[in-house]
Amino acid sequence: MKKAFIAPLIVLLLASYGDAARLVSVKDLQARSYKNHTRVVIETDRVVEFIQNRLVDPDRLYFDLKNCTLRKKASSLPMENGILKKVRIAQFDKNTVRVVLDVRKLETFYAFMLERPYRLVIDVYDRKDAAQSSKKEEKIIEPGLDGIKTIVIDPGHGGDDPGAIGPNGLQEKDVVLHVGKKLGDILASKNGVEVIYTRDKDIFIPLNERTEIANSKKAGLFISVHANASPRGDARGVETYFLNWTNDAEAMKVAARENKISFKKMRKMQGDLQLILQDLARKNKNEESMKLASSVQSAMVNTLKEDYGRIEDLGVKYALFYVLVGAEMPSILIEISFISNHEEEKRLSGESYKDKLAEGIASGINSYIAQATPVISPVKLSEKDKDKSAPSQRKRIKRERTLNKGPKRTGDSI
Ligand SMILES: [Zn+2]
Repeated sequence: MKKAFIAPLIVLLLASYGDAARLVSVKDLQARSYKNHTRVVIETDRVVEFIQNRLVDPDRLYFDLKNCTLRKKASSLPMENGILKKVRIAQFDKNTVRVVLDVRKLETFYAFMLERPYRLVIDVYDRKDAAQSSKKEEKIIEPGLDGIKTIVIDPGHGGDDPGAIGPNGLQEKDVVLHVGKKLGDILASKNGVEVIYTRDKDIFIPLNERTEIANSKKAGLFISVHANASPRGDARGVETYFLNWTNDAEAMKVAARENKISFKKMRKMQGDLQLILQDLARKNKNEESMKLASSVQSAMVNTLKEDYGRIEDLGVKYALFYVLVGAEMPSILIEISFISNHEEEKRLSGESYKDKLAEGIASGINSYIAQATPVISPVKLSEKDKDKSAPSQRKRIKRERTLNKGPKRTGDSI
């Protein structure tokens, strides 16, 4: 590697969210390798301001966490195979904790703060994967659906986190657990796929662990189920999200609520993370997530309309949902109705509406899986292939139309 490759010092001012006088406590260091990347997680008790840098001879990344104190002793995590050799953490000076990642074959990395719990996440990717993914994108856009054997279903909230609460006291955590389990039953019995739940009872699972379960099981799809809420009592309808940067205020409000942060903080964090997010979204199989969201949204709406009136289709949208960050498979978050709306809360409190929702979502997942024919990139299309691919192209156009029902697209999506 060339000396000239030394990365410039990049300063990421993620936040200065008050309480600056007290040092931030660095509580834990963990690292885990997945198929395509290694994730290093540094747990803290507040948002951390940090700088990052890459050095050569030996190749290493380091992160200086400002105004921090290391709660434990300095330590080092050896990494057997893969991208990193070792991860080290130590108190560098009175106010700085330094984390060093000794590199074996790193191509690119992203560092960002997440919350609940507060943690600095560093995702590192190796050379081989980066080369392979760009090669694949050049030739063919593969849905890769034949490989879907496992689906992770993530009923939101749980335990001491009730999620949104309806005017008559119905709790989101109970509603989404019912829908999630019913959905799992349908998928397992009709499709023969293995279903894994992030939770199948009333317990709380931290947001980051939810996608980690899906990654470690090499799941084909990740489906997070939530119920919506709004201060406007008349807000109603169903909508489906995938991960991406957005400037749509309504979508940001939904994400802020699900992330348990204020709207103001959500807006700031989005601004700070814009570039990182766009790339994360790409790695998140973004195009596939969008297709999955579109398929689920329309099936859910159509299925509900069979038995119920006044079903509002709020469309497919995107925003920064913590629970989707880091998923290595197509992943979506469904808002199955507004628990804050009197009529929808009443519907959600009965079994038949919840079962109908599960049926609709399952049908959307099925039609997504059924679109197994690879979509050939138009650039590579020969005259001979044009006829064969025409139905896929038509399907594509139809999907794009469905998507236009969502928030106005700004040209910043992937
Ligand atoms: Zn929720």
